[in-house]
Amino acid sequence: MIPQEVIIEKRNGKKLDAQVLSNFINSYVKGEIPDYQVSALLMAIFLQGMDAEETAALTECMMKSGVTYDLEKLGISGPAVDKHSTGGVGDKVSLVLAPLAAACGLVVPMVTGRGLGNTGGTTDKLESIPGFNMDVTPEEFIEQLKKLGVAIIGQADNFVPADKKLYALRDVTGTVESIPLISSSIMSKKVASGAKGIVMDVKVGSGAFMKNPDDARKLADSLKNVGDVLGVKVKAVLSNMDQPLGDTVGNAIEVREAVECLRGGGPEDLRRITLELAAEMALLGDVAATYKEALELVTEKLDSGAALEKFKEIVSYQGGNTNVIDNPELLVVSEETEDIRAETNGFLHSVDCYEVGMAALVLGAGRQKVGEEIDPTVGLRIRKKIGDPVKAGEILVTVHHNGGRGVENCRKKLSGAFDIKENPVQAPSLILEKR
Ligand code: URA
Repeated sequence: MIPQEVIIEKRNGKKLDAQVLSNFINSYVKGEIPDYQVSALLMAIFLQGMDAEETAALTECMMKSGVTYDLEKLGISGPAVDKHSTGGVGDKVSLVLAPLAAACGLVVPMVTGRGLGNTGGTTDKLESIPGFNMDVTPEEFIEQLKKLGVAIIGQADNFVPADKKLYALRDVTGTVESIPLISSSIMSKKVASGAKGIVMDVKVGSGAFMKNPDDARKLADSLKNVGDVLGVKVKAVLSNMDQPLGDTVGNAIEVREAVECLRGGGPEDLRRITLELAAEMALLGDVAATYKEALELVTEKLDSGAALEKFKEIVSYQGGNTNVIDNPELLVVSEETEDIRAETNGFLHSVDCYEVGMAALVLGAGRQKVGEEIDPTVGLRIRKKIGDPVKAGEILVTVHHNGGRGVENCRKKLSGAFDIKENPVQAPSLILEKR
């Protein structure tokens, strides 16, 4: 295989053969093909696209570039079902959903990422719990799945290394927002973790990769097609990301909110989407026969405290301080605050959700480059949702900062992010459709 020939074929719109893709990716992971040639191929894929078979072939060779888990062979016989979100601002659903699904009898092998871009990662959020260990070895991961039915761990270096290298390159070559590249990136990791069913929360809106429902449908269908080829059931739920999910954006502040939700409280949108996604997981894993039965099951496990108990087990098993669950103030959120207030009367019509994510990031809640340290104590408390009436002078957002770091930039981003108009407007639907 001559790399430039592969690039030229794709550039000219030809379909790449599975073997050619596999050779290319394997050589790249071994360091035999330089970044500039891989960048050129990524741009050719971005511009020419890939069909379902090609995307599945790319997914498969990425998946096989590192450690993979065949849970049944490893002695784990329960239905392995996971969830993935394509990335949203304030999206702390995994923290509630993973223990909830496990409390329903599913096995949840959740391998999570760090935040990059305007959205936070589950790994960063969980690390705001003192002692919580995300660096779990493959043996420990399997042991935990056997004992608890759920583990939420970080991505080790040998877990889908092809995606690590490709994602870092996509990030700096303008090739992130490509449906085949997003699909293969997500599916390679989910299938490698051993999931046999995956519920995909495909976010749509100003805070998401997919800005409109048409693109989100294309991504959802691509993920489902790859699942079909690889023998994994995929259910896609398209959900609104035109405003942050829940009332908080950050790390410790989001974990506090997730714990509230596990206690049966918390914001309505967070509870609603968690229950919807959990019900779809229950259906994929055949622990419920109908949607109604699934929704009843997951609601009961959330409201009875079974999911909270499972979360405690996870935190304890992974070395975290379980006292944070009974005393959420142990999750340190900075008490230095600044309020961003409305300038006019009216109704909140829209939020530039991307800018809200970036506003949290510039405080230190996220990172602009791979490897940067984040500050778990900073974040935002959002006081208004789309459709809410607003009075001039009312608080829109409370900024929790650390000694003023990034506050000026944060204030600038937030001051243009909330559009208030005179006429009333309806709140947007949270769940847009299922596929
Ligand atoms: N999430 C991923 O894991 N990969 C992408 O390419 C986009 C979102």
